[in-house]
Amino acid sequence: QHVIELERVTKRYDSAGAPALGPLTLGVARGEALAVTGPSGSGKSTLLNLVAGLDRPTEGAVIVAGRRIDRLSEHALATFRRRHIGMAFQFFNLLDDLTVTDNIQLPAQLTGTGRREAAARAGELMEMLGIRQHARAYPGRLSGGERQRVAVARALVNRPALLLADEPTGALDTASGHDVRDLLLDLHRAGQTIVLVTHDPALATACASRTVHLVDGHVARDSSARAAR
Ligand code: ADP
Ligand code: ADP
Repeated sequence: QHVIELERVTKRYDSAGAPALGPLTLGVARGEALAVTGPSGSGKSTLLNLVAGLDRPTEGAVIVAGRRIDRLSEHALATFRRRHIGMAFQFFNLLDDLTVTDNIQLPAQLTGTGRREAAARAGELMEMLGIRQHARAYPGRLSGGERQRVAVARALVNRPALLLADEPTGALDTASGHDVRDLLLDLHRAGQTIVLVTHDPALATACASRTVHLVDGHVARDSSARAAR
């Protein structure tokens, strides 16, 4: 079963010239950790934005968690995203005037999860990600690696079908980067479906089960094509 299906997807930002992405047909299976690599301008952000429902394709179908999302209304998309997609970004995007616990609970509360249940999930995630001791701290007091752990915990609090990570180590020093790499690997081993966008081939090799390399909006290399099962 596929968590993501892209069917002949093309994205153009302007009508002249080649599309920024596609035409692209790609399936991502449940439990896969897919790294999307490629040089700047190759279409990585475009692909991520389409899968996250943050942008719409010019042509083709985008199906995530069994739902065709490219024709949903903005309102339906926002709801879909909150329930089914967790996102972690290069610069964490945490709310600095909320504690770690409140940052993590927020998406659960926004989808109507009760306070008690949200707190229980936040507690479990802090335990699992090794940040329990920072529960009452504010993000500004934490290291970069710890902040990314908080951001990942927040991304997972609604138990999304899909975790999208956009250059999650891009703002981190080497040691913190390794820490986040290990975290992604742990999540993959626990069965989480992940799409990781990264410029860093070493990160892709270390924590992805499959790598798709984009050049000029096309798949130049797909590691699963060689390791066909
Ligand atoms: P990457 O994330 O790999 O750097 P992008 O997906 O950001 O690549 O960009 C792919 C191509 O699409 C590039 O040529 C980029 O300039 C263009 N592009 C991306 N976003 C926009 C946009 N909002 N408007 C116009 N062109 C865009
Ligand atoms: P990345 O660091 O992931 O490659 P970029 O720096 O290419 O990201 O793009 C950052 C943001 O700017 C993205 O949301 C992308 O869609 C947008 N963008 C990229 N290229 C263009 C462009 N030529 N015109 C307008 N927006 C763009």
